[in-house]
Amino acid sequence: MRRIDVLSLYTNDMSFYGDMGNVLIISKRLSFYGFEPVIHFYNPGDSFPDHVDMVFGGGGQDSGQKNIFDDLQKRGEKLRQLASQGVPMLMICGMYQLFGKYFLTNSGKKIPGISVFDVYTEATLDRLIGNLVEESKLFGRLVGFENHSGQTYFSSPLHPLGRVISGGGNNSKDKVDGAMVNNAIGTYLHGPVLSKNPKLADFLIGKAQLGRYGTEKLPSSPVLSRIDELAAKGNEVASKRPR
Ligand code: GLN
Repeated sequence: MRRIDVLSLYTNDMSFYGDMGNVLIISKRLSFYGFEPVIHFYNPGDSFPDHVDMVFGGGGQDSGQKNIFDDLQKRGEKLRQLASQGVPMLMICGMYQLFGKYFLTNSGKKIPGISVFDVYTEATLDRLIGNLVEESKLFGRLVGFENHSGQTYFSSPLHPLGRVISGGGNNSKDKVDGAMVNNAIGTYLHGPVLSKNPKLADFLIGKAQLGRYGTEKLPSSPVLSRIDELAAKGNEVASKRPR
């Protein structure tokens, strides 16, 4: 069976509003496509896996970010290298912030990030909270839940993940959410986001397959086709929910 190695970063401190579910969804989808998923849970001090095909990280409180940033710095070079090689990554909220340059908290502490994304985040007193709906060129309508005090700005022109239809996204001014660099994606969508947005999941799996086995096109899966009909209904209903 063709193996895919999935790295789940800092789940003990960084997994909010079901973000760990993204790893479970990827693991299930990989199995339905006939791969053997191998999940590596990585927390501070752990040894880093020898081979990585995909990387996931979730949201967390400021305190969680403070617990892990030191260890993240030690892994920064390796993670930047993987991102530049096209390894697909999905970083939600707090980990999106720390894959940027820094997060300046409300108490004035500057938590350094690893600069995979050329973005910076500064806390405000206006919390952006509620359902977030956006339109993505690659993935169509994306829906999730956001809850963050940090507002994120691009330091240089970047591709956002999507244009905000309703909700906040990166900040309360720009009407965009997230960032995409190579195949690394940062976003404020919790949920877990992949439950209602399977195209995003398949993009990540396709890129992982490309990196490891040289082909991006995924085999068809009748089971997943049925599951994705339900996901489309979930996306539809959630997009109409009030904030
Ligand atoms: N602590 C960060 C903020 O509030 C991240 C929150 C989150 O990951 N949901 O901006």
